[in-house]
This record gives sequence, structure tokens and C-alpha cells, in this order.
Amino acid sequence: MSDELDIIGADLTVDLPDGRHVRFAHLDYAASAPAVRVAADAVRDLLPLYGSVHRGTGRRSQKSTLEYERARDIVAEFLGCRPGDEVIFTRNTTDALNLLARSLPPGTTTIVFDGEHHANLLPWPSPLRLPAPTDPGAAVAAVAEALSSVRGPALLAVTGASNVTGEIWPVRRLADVAHAHGARVVVDAAQLAPHVPLDLDALGADYLALSGHKLYAPFGAGVLAGRQDWLDEAEPYLYGGGASATVGDFAGDVTWATGPARHEGGTPNLIGAVALGAVCDALLRADRAALLEHEQNLLAGLDGVSLFGGAVPRVGIVSFAVPDPAGVAAVLGRDYGIGVRAGQFCAHPLVRRLTGAATTAGCETAPGLLRASFGLGSTAEDVTRLVDALHDLRLL
Ligand code: PMP
Repeated sequence: MSDELDIIGADLTVDLPDGRHVRFAHLDYAASAPAVRVAADAVRDLLPLYGSVHRGTGRRSQKSTLEYERARDIVAEFLGCRPGDEVIFTRNTTDALNLLARSLPPGTTTIVFDGEHHANLLPWPSPLRLPAPTDPGAAVAAVAEALSSVRGPALLAVTGASNVTGEIWPVRRLADVAHAHGARVVVDAAQLAPHVPLDLDALGADYLALSGHKLYAPFGAGVLAGRQDWLDEAEPYLYGGGASATVGDFAGDVTWATGPARHEGGTPNLIGAVALGAVCDALLRADRAALLEHEQNLLAGLDGVSLFGGAVPRVGIVSFAVPDPAGVAAVLGRDYGIGVRAGQFCAHPLVRRLTGAATTAGCETAPGLLRASFGLGSTAEDVTRLVDALHDLRLL
């Protein structure tokens, strides 16, 4: 792995109650990935020249505008944007999906599986909710059936990789079915982007959303990328400067900008965008196949652990059942120096289905699961430590 993709703080150590001093094993990349060097370097280099984007003619403003737009171009390349696509910087995936949800043509039917993260479940107005599928074939059949009775504009909102099971969904097959019925597709790539090279056309995605903080750029920028037409016809996401082209003397006398500016009202998050652009640039040049192979080897180290998820490939995210997941996660952190996550991972319907909890069980009552997730800095030793700790706790 090149230096620029080295994790900052990979050598973080923690003191354990038994007196041992160990390297902290961060196995919670799916929540937020630690920063890589190239993101920090890009920010450090820009800060001395930092200024307001698109607003001034001075040196700082010019440099900032240049870097902001350069980041947009890199993200477009990273995602394989096509003519007619645009890249809008948002706060995160949640923001990106909410923006698209507010930009749908009137009367659009949205179709979504119950297994989605809440960010891809809740923004859609009155969605047609399909039960979380158990296998790819069932998913494709369910979408085809749902779309056969839909008239007018339609959107299938689907995750690229589950934040609970790590399963990589057959987005292309689902997109082919959706497109055959005249529907568009948005891919929630929050968990796919850090692991798998992305290409809008190859995915069959009309839109894609991702978060910088899961992609090693923890400065609060996300992305909505995809077809410009719906986005240009929609009301601006935020009313204000930047989004407006001309403002007259009377209330309502305003024309709105087109393109990304329409939905980036106010001063944008330059630092976040530049950090994200820098990571995308480094990943474009990295040997992604080798990174994927490394991750698959890490997953192989969990052989023997009973993981949720079906017979589809997965990214480095695994969930498994233990009694009292929150208690176990706390013990792993305190006594073993291992950072994992417990709960329902903002995917309540899916976790309820996986655990067989009552459909009324909310956050507080459903038992939830334990989740470990890997990324660029993860090592075989991290996985071994987790497995050993689970043995030690008699959970395996
Ligand atoms: N979708 C998925 C699949 C996720 O895992 C997450 C984050 N857990 C989100 C959406 C939301 O991302 P953010 O919190 O960055 O908006």
C-alpha cells in the first residue's frame, strides 16, 4: 500500500486493565474510517491559502475555487460520471439521499427494500417498501413485480453493500430490471465506495450517494452524483446565496442557478471536498484489486464465526449474534483494546429480521448484533485478536 493511503494513527495504543499496553484494533470502519495521509496532507497544504469558494478575485479565493472544482472533477472521474451527470457536494450520504428525495419529479414512485440503512429508507416520500430479500434472485423478482404495476416516474433506491451484513447487492441486475421498466436507480454507496471501485455505468446507477468520512476523508463532505435533469428541475435544496442566479426586488422574484450550485446553497465545505477529492485521486491510482484481496483474506480469518448474510460476496463488514452485544462491545474495548460496534446500526427492520426480534422492537428493546468492519489499515492480527477475544469470552 502506498504511503498516501497509510492510516493516520494506525499505531494508536491503549492501556488495558491487566496492565498490558496494546495497539488499538479499530474494527469499526463502517461507522467512520480513520483518515489517510493524503487527506490530511491536502488539508494541511490548503489551509494557508484557504478562502471563500466562488466569491472573490483574490489569491485565496481563486486557489480555493480551483481546488474545490478540481475535487469535483476527481470525484466525477472516481465515479465514472457520464455526460449529463453532475457531482454535488453534500454533508454525507444521508444529506445526499434527502437531496435526491426532494428533487424527484411530482408523482415519482420510489421502491426500496426494508433491509436498507435508515438513510435510504426514510427520505423517500411514501415509498413502496419491499421485504428485505434473502437472495439476489428474489430481489430482482421482487423489483420486477413491484415495477410492473407502477405508472409514471419511478426510482429504485438500493444499497450497494449492506452496513449490517456487508453483502454486496446485485445492483447491476436490479438496475437492468428497473431500467427495463423505465425507472431510475439510486445506489447508496456509503459502504461500497470504501471497498469496491465504482463506475456509474457499470453499476447501472442513475444516481449514487457516498460519505467522505467512511472513505478516509473525515472532514464532513459527502456526494450526490448522477443525472442533472431532475436536479435542475427541482427546487433548490437550500434557498440562499450560491443557489440563486438573480434576485429581484420583490418576494419570489428569483431565478435559480443550474448545475451543482443550485443545491449547494451557502458557503460550501471546501476542506471536506478537497480531502475527499485527494482520497479519490489516490484510490484511482491504487491497486484496488490487491486491497480487495487483502480484505477477503481478512474475512477468511473469521472462518468458523457464524456470520449473518447470504451467498453473495461481501465487503469487510460482518455481524454476528452474541448475548448482550452492547456489553460484549464494551468489554472488547475496555479489556482487549478492540473497537467494534453493537446495536442495530440504523437498520432496524433488517436487524429485527436477522435476529427474529418482534416487529415492534425498537432501539432499546431489540437485542441487536455485534459488528466488526475492516478497511485500509486492518491487519490479520486485528482479526486474530477479535477471534481470540471472542473465544476467551466463551462466545465462540
Ligand atoms: N447508508 C449506509 C449503507 C450506511 O452505512 C450509512 C452510515 N452508517 C449511511 C447510509 C449514512 O451515512 P452518513 O451517516 O454518513 O450520512
